[in-house]
Amino acid sequence: MNSSGPLIHGRRFVPYISRDRIAEKVAELAGRISADYAGERPMLLVVLNGAMPFAVALMQQLTVDVELCCIRYASYVGTSSTGTGKEVIGLPEERLKGRRVIVVEDIVDTGRTIAYLHERLQACGVKDSEVAALTFKRGKYLGTLPIRYIGFEIEDAFVVGFGMDYDEYGRQYPDIYQLEE
Ligand code: 5GP
Repeated sequence: MNSSGPLIHGRRFVPYISRDRIAEKVAELAGRISADYAGERPMLLVVLNGAMPFAVALMQQLTVDVELCCIRYASYVGTSSTGTGKEVIGLPEERLKGRRVIVVEDIVDTGRTIAYLHERLQACGVKDSEVAALTFKRGKYLGTLPIRYIGFEIEDAFVVGFGMDYDEYGRQYPDIYQLEE
């Protein structure tokens, strides 16, 4: 990486959201979630792999107990969406019935992922579900579900870092970068 940002597969990424801004935003979201779920124990459903760092950071700032579960499926190849793919790690259906669930996402783009998950969660008989998204591309969102906890509304540019990858590179960066125009 040089001072401007990383080069991944020959493409230059430039600084976009710093680790300090991320930390501040995570603390703010954790405060809201802790207040909204005071006295309860919501289920955090982490959408692997990208949401892992966000979920860890968020969890560590919560003042309510949570239960953790993960789901993973493949939907992205390179820098363009290929739609909802197959579930590689499935929902723990028996643990979800009657629960309040918070879906933890690194990024909501078209909204296909969260719409699909919402349906799956309803079918499991959850009490209710909300979404916490570190980043949200409002301009690309095709869904109708409200997203309760939004970290950063971002423009339509491909981003990496803080869990988000470009073909499995870049997830480890503590800051978020966007593809240079
Ligand atoms: P959606 O289903 O909302 O279209 O897409 C959600 C998923 O697409 C995210 O979990 C993420 O894996 C991927 N995605 C969408 N936009 C970006 C982006 O700008 N950068 C990266 N790294 N992944 C993205």
